[in-house]
Parts: sequence; C-alpha cells; structure tokens
Amino acid sequence: MASLSARIVIRATNRELEIPTGLFIDNQFVPSVDSASEPIQAVNPSTEEPICSVVAGSAKDIDIAVAAARKAFNTTWGKNVTGFERSKLLNKLADLMERDQDILAEVESLNNGKPVKIARDFDIGDSIQCLRYYAGWADKITGQTIEVDNKTKLAFTKHDPIGVCGQIIPWNYPINMWAWKVGPALACGCTIVMKPSELTPLTALMLSKLIAEAGFPPGVVNTIPSLGSVGGAALSAHMGVDKVAFTGSTVTGRKIMEAAAKSNLKKVSLELGGKSPQIVFESADLDQAANWACLGILYNTGQDCTAGSRLYVQDTVYDKFISLLVPKAKELVIGDGFDEKSGGGPVVSKTQFDKVWRYIESGSAQGAKLALGGQKRPGKGFFVDPTIFTDINANMDIVRDEIFGPVLSVGRFKTEEEAISLANDTSYGLGAGLHSNDANQCMRVSSALEAGTVWVNQYNLLNNNVPFGGKKQSGIGRELGSYALEEYTSVKAVHWNFGEKLDWPL
Ligand code: NAP
Ligand code: MG
Repeated sequence: MASLSARIVIRATNRELEIPTGLFIDNQFVPSVDSASEPIQAVNPSTEEPICSVVAGSAKDIDIAVAAARKAFNTTWGKNVTGFERSKLLNKLADLMERDQDILAEVESLNNGKPVKIARDFDIGDSIQCLRYYAGWADKITGQTIEVDNKTKLAFTKHDPIGVCGQIIPWNYPINMWAWKVGPALACGCTIVMKPSELTPLTALMLSKLIAEAGFPPGVVNTIPSLGSVGGAALSAHMGVDKVAFTGSTVTGRKIMEAAAKSNLKKVSLELGGKSPQIVFESADLDQAANWACLGILYNTGQDCTAGSRLYVQDTVYDKFISLLVPKAKELVIGDGFDEKSGGGPVVSKTQFDKVWRYIESGSAQGAKLALGGQKRPGKGFFVDPTIFTDINANMDIVRDEIFGPVLSVGRFKTEEEAISLANDTSYGLGAGLHSNDANQCMRVSSALEAGTVWVNQYNLLNNNVPFGGKKQSGIGRELGSYALEEYTSVKAVHWNFGEKLDWPL
C-alpha cells in the first residue's frame, strides 16, 4: 500500500519537499478503502526514473468522494454560501498558488517534463489569473426578471449551481486544466470530485492541500487519482454526479457520453482532440507566420489539443516559407525541463513516445518527405525533436490523426477556396489559424473555418475571458469566459402570480 505522503528531493534545484500521495476526501489525505489496489507510479519523463507512488482510487473511493461532495453541496456550499464568500475563497486559493508557484512549477516539470520556466510563467501564471477571473464572477451570477403580465404576474430565473461535478483532466496541462475546471465550478457553487491523469497526479494533490489551507469547507473539492479508466468511468456512470467535465481524447469522450446517457443523463462537457489547420496566404508577414506556425506545433512539444499540426501554404510563397520555417523549428531546444536552455520537454510517457514514433514512421512509409527530424535520440528520456513533413496528401495518417507530438504536416494550395476546403477536411474542429494581410480575406476565411477558435495572424494564445471549445468531434460545451458558467449552472424559472384568480371548473 502506498503511504500518504512522499519525501522527494529535486536534484536540479536541491529542493526537498513533502508531496501528499493519498486520496483527498473531506479535506484529508486518506488511503483507498480497497487496500489491495496497486499504487500509481509517477515517473520523470526526462530521466525515466520513478518519482514516488500515489494511492490509486477505486470505484468505492469514488462513491465516498461523491458522498462527501454531496454532503458539502447540501450543507456548507451550494446555496448555503454567498457569492461573496465563494469569491473570497477563490482569491485566497489564487494567492496560495502564487506563493507556491516555484515549487508547483518544479513538480509540474518533474512529472510532466515541460520546462520549469514555462510551467511557472505560462501554466501557473495563467491558472492564478483564471482563479481570480472566476472569483470575480462568483457574486455576479444573475438571472432575468421577465414580464409576463404587468398587473398580475411576473417570472424570474435563477442560475442555480448544478450540483456535484466529476472533473476528469489529462496530463498535458495538469495545473492549467485543474484551474480551468475548478474556477468556474466553485464560482457557481458546485462541489467537485476531481480525477487527475494517472500520469501526472502530483500537482493536483498539492493543489488539494491548498484547497484545505484556503479554508474551503471539507468535501467541496475532493481528488481521486486512479489507474486506467477506473476513476473516470466510475464518475461518468455515477448516479450521484450531476455533471461531468472532461478534457482528453475523442475516444474517451465518447465513452463518457455513453456512460452519462446510460446512467442519469448527467450534463456533459467535452473538450476533445483536434487536427487543427493553419493557413499561410501570400500576403502574410511570412517571418511572423513562421514563428506562429512553430509555436502552434511545438508548444508543449505538440501535446496540445489545439496543436496546429496541418499547415497549408499558398504555392506562390511556398518555397520561401519552408526556407524560413525549417531553421526556426530546428532552433527550439527540446531537453530536460530543469535545463534553462530548454524551450520544450520530452513527451509525457513511453506510450506517447511510441505513438508519436509510429506516426513518424508511417509518414515516411506513406510517402511524405521529411524536411526536419526523423532521427531517434540515443539515451534516456522520451525526447522527440521537431519533425516536419512535406509532400503530404489528404489520406495519410499523419494528416488525418491527432498525433499529440511535435510533428507538422505541410501542404500547399493555389486558391482561397482550396485552402478552406483542405482546412475543413477533418472530423475535428477545435482550432484553426490564418495568416494574411488582406483584411477582407481574413474576415471571409475566419468565417468559413469550422472551428471553435480561429486565430488571425497569431496562434495558440488563449485568454481567460474568451470562451474555448470545439465544433464537430472536438467537443461539446465551452470553457473559460462567462460561457463556462453555463456549464455549471442549471436555470430555474419561477412563475409568480400576484393577482390572477383562477375560476374553476374550466
Ligand atoms: P484519455 O484517455 O482521453 O485521458 C484523459 C483523462 O481521461 C485521464 O484522466 C484518463 O485517466 C481519463 N480516462 C481514461 N479512461 C476513461 C474512461 N473510460 N472514462 C472516463 N475517463 C477516462 O487520454 P490518454 O489515453 O491519456 O491519451 C491518449 C491520446 O489522447 C493522446 O495521445 C492524445 O492524442 C489525446 N489527448 C488529448 C488531450 C486534449 O487535451 N485534448 C489530452 C490528453 C490526451 P488516466 O490518465 O488515469 O488513464
Ligand atoms: Mg489513460
């Protein structure tokens, strides 16, 4: 059985720290009630060395966590607390995250592989802002007053918290996805059973400790890491869960929706994968477009749901653009996250490493041409260098499937219509980008692209006050912005009679 905390030493910074490793229920770290369950082994993807082991929750642990969340919802949270109080606690949580940002960044890097500076300045910096953004909303959740009959009746709506929420998050942005889910749910008055990925459970447990320190009542946020599909499947099928919010693959998203349909028809929001296109038109600032294209595919080593993994370049500027793009992509240093020079880390796991390499091999086998990359590195660590394929066609696996690694496919087009049809030729619809200095063209193309987010002359940047989510098979629902509040509230209409008499019988 795994113990409830682990003492670890981060060699690169000489930092010693104690990480909680139990299940977090009712503000306490506890063992699993199924004493036989095998623990989760957290691994450093840069060195392939184990970090520590974490208690893996079972379906019975999920039951206990859901009961704790229900009790809190009915007694100390939900409609029992003012928006002002929820706001104050969310701000406190953000302050604690800011206080601990260096430690959190180092553990995020240790477990996920991404550079410490990126974890701190982007993932954590953005997460703190996200919590503060939703702290601002907590006392501004309002409904409508609707005139029905001036003399006798009115109706009003209340946006009630939806209840107990299961939140299932992936390994590519462990802290960031935690904040995106926790912020709006707590602002609206919901309670949470959080299931982090088995690959990256550590920072979710550290943040759980901050939940207790901030003063949230027991049971408001519970955290159950688990192995494989156990925890996520139990949450999505649970009769006591009112909503599931998920970020991850389309395959798992389908299973969650099916489990929700077969159980209590809980509300579901899904933020799924993508095969997002970027289009470079001849009028674009090509040097800038090349920078954004590199960011699009190489940020987070391509393990990004909006990774701009298909790039279409107008034939008149194609050769020039490739000659700019390839050296820029080559310049990014992929290395250990504790090395200051690294702009990207390894991919998260051996499974992900093998998956990415299978795609690189299939790209070559199916006839695409390697313009960069394609060489495996010797030694330890799941490192994959920036990889660019040209001479692609629409049927290749590298063009159709989400790879979730630093692998870009570049194609060419002649006309705007052709670019739009190539870009939209996918079952996904998460992100899309276009680069052009023709304003009318920007407006036409951004309107025609089938995606939840379209970037014009930039790529991959998000803001906490702007909604994010997918069209087509990239998902259902929206995160961020005021739109996310709809995912965590249920609208109640109250019809009020102050004058009409009912004559009976009819
Ligand atoms: P995944 O299965 O979608 O995992 C995402 C989350 O769902 C994890 O917390 C996972 O738990 C949980 N889960 C697994 N099976 C479940 C089930 N039956 N019901 C409910 N929840 C379940 O993704 P993955 O297997 O880690 O990665 C596979 C591929 O998914 C990647 O190669 C990538 O293409 C894509 N992906 C996309 C995103 C994104 O942001 N859109 C993020 C991650 C992965 P465990 O981790 O404990 O298994
Ligand atoms: Mg998995």
